[in-house]
Amino acid sequence: MLAEDDPVARLMTARLLKKAGYEVVAVADGGAALEALRARFFPVLLTDWEMPVLDGLGVVSAVRSGEWPGYVFTILLTGRDSRESVLAGLEAGADDYLTKPVDEAELLARMKTGWRIAELERSLRAAQQEALRLSLTDALTGTSNRRELIERLPSEVERARRYRHPLSVLMCDIDHFKRVNDTHGHPAGDAVLRSFASLLGSALRSGVDWVARYGGEEFVIVLPETDLAGACTVAEKLRAAAAALVVTHGEARISLTASFGVASVGKDWPEAGIPDALLAQADVCLYQSKQAGRDRVTSGELVG
Ligand code: GH3
Ligand code: MG
Ligand code: MG
Ligand code: MG
Repeated sequence: MLAEDDPVARLMTARLLKKAGYEVVAVADGGAALEALRARFFPVLLTDWEMPVLDGLGVVSAVRSGEWPGYVFTILLTGRDSRESVLAGLEAGADDYLTKPVDEAELLARMKTGWRIAELERSLRAAQQEALRLSLTDALTGTSNRRELIERLPSEVERARRYRHPLSVLMCDIDHFKRVNDTHGHPAGDAVLRSFASLLGSALRSGVDWVARYGGEEFVIVLPETDLAGACTVAEKLRAAAAALVVTHGEARISLTASFGVASVGKDWPEAGIPDALLAQADVCLYQSKQAGRDRVTSGELVG
């Protein structure tokens, strides 16, 4: 992004940068620069100091205080080569500066530095996002992990509470899963866990409901906008699908059942502690399903 009010300088600089292989968007004042920056991300901003509407210092300050998808490397072009104005520019947040008239070779060299730093920041940011994603994902099944459940459930609860919309949580646990491992081996058990998790995921509303692996063979499903009756229907559908599932692993054909506990909040809203209360209630119901013979659904609603 090039902001320069002098038409000749703007044209010349843009042409030079384009010749060097950069894609350039050139604007005539600081206000237009910020507007363009809000519409689309630019990794490097080259801005003149003296411009109408908003000068270079103003642009640089606004860029530094704003939220952008990545780091914007800013280079200030200034005729004022006094020590004070250079310091003021850096103080405002400029990463580098060039004094006018701009030496072409120097401009390209500084651009290259800026671009390299912007690239570095971009790859660090991508690596950080990937690390965050991995830290919230269960490695075996690819569902959310317990940590993401614990971090994200409170915001689901808050959203539901604000609009007084229902919210349900299912907890399910594969029945006699230890036998799968004992009979077919641990890798077969892993294959069953993967198939079971993908069965849970595929039966849900995508982008709305979500699945987290809560423990070894125990999963939690969060169902926004779903009351107790609706959640029981979902749980029953999943229970039947699990009972019909046959997992092939080598020679083995493994069938399974799972037990479900359903908890909802919708009519009465307890004052606090809803995320924990929902999980606890679902856990109690799951336990009751196990006690009553497994392969079934038990439900309960939270009361305020
Ligand atoms: P119940 O019907 O009461 O739930 O019985 P269960 O056998 O399913 O429950 P239990 O808690 O006794 O055993 C769970 C087993 O799950 C024991 C553990 O070794 C196994 N397990 C936990 N995590 C994994 C995993 O990542 N892979 C495999 N293959 N097995 C796992
Ligand atoms: Mg100017
Ligand atoms: Mg189990
Ligand atoms: Mg278990």
